Amino acid sequence: MSDDVEVPQSHPRYESLLTRHRIEAGVDRGITSRQGLIAQGRGEAFDYLLGERTIDSADRAERAAAAYLLSADHAVISVNGNAAALVPGELVELAEVTGADLEVNLFNRTEERIEAIAEYLREHGASDVKGLTADGRIPGLDHERAKVDADGIGDADVVLVPLEDGDRAEALGEMGKTELVVDLNPRSRSAEVAAVPIVDNIIRAVPNVTEHARDLRGDAEAQRAAIEGFDADSARADAERTIREGDLE
Ligand code: ATP
Ligand code: MG
Repeated sequence: MSDDVEVPQSHPRYESLLTRHRIEAGVDRGITSRQGLIAQGRGEAFDYLLGERTIDSADRAERAAAAYLLSADHAVISVNGNAAALVPGELVELAEVTGADLEVNLFNRTEERIEAIAEYLREHGASDVKGLTADGRIPGLDHERAKVDADGIGDADVVLVPLEDGDRAEALGEMGKTELVVDLNPRSRSAEVAAVPIVDNIIRAVPNVTEHARDLRGDAEAQRAAIEGFDADSARADAERTIREGDLE
């Protein structure tokens, strides 16, 4: 983390400042789009109201997501500019532990940005990064937004889409894919169409999914229990209730 700015750990907004700096650095490196800055700001507002913590229902969602990734025929982790800037090494680790593919998938797609993100993931230990072939299409979306790899997201039965755009999340759902979404807004369309909406900050969510995956690996029965015991509607409702009624400290 040599490019992380000096923020004293005692600072009350330590995590938030570190996160902002990573997004800023992502923009400077050509990884994150300028819209990504705005998306981060929206996320932060929700996170503040959640108490900047992983609530219990989000932890159960993270466990269910781990179970889906492990029991998939072909799981793909979609990586956009914000996800890459915030948790590059953590995404690589999650892919390793669950056997999922990593695919760069951008809402504002440019070849330069895809290359830069793929390179950044490789610097963090990824051996194979998909998203550069773009020979598959998601039906129902305009040309640039529809591009995916045919042997990546195109072929996947389970996709983890952190911070996905609502239109694309809907279209992927219509393709019959099981979607695991990380989004701090429980009312965002992405969260509403997800089989597993994870209402948590991606910087806490991804390492926690990995931890659950380590725990569930090789135990089909425990994976089934994590999936069956999870209810998406009540998880979203619980997150919304926490945001609306939580005590601000
Ligand atoms: P749509 O209805 O099309 O989904 P949107 O309101 O979600 O639109 P965007 O600004 O594209 O519009 O979405 C960004 C989403 O990502 C927001 O819901 C925000 O809460 C979420 N988000 C941003 N940063 C993070 C983060 N670090 N961790 C988790 N979620 C985040
Ligand atoms: Mg959204």
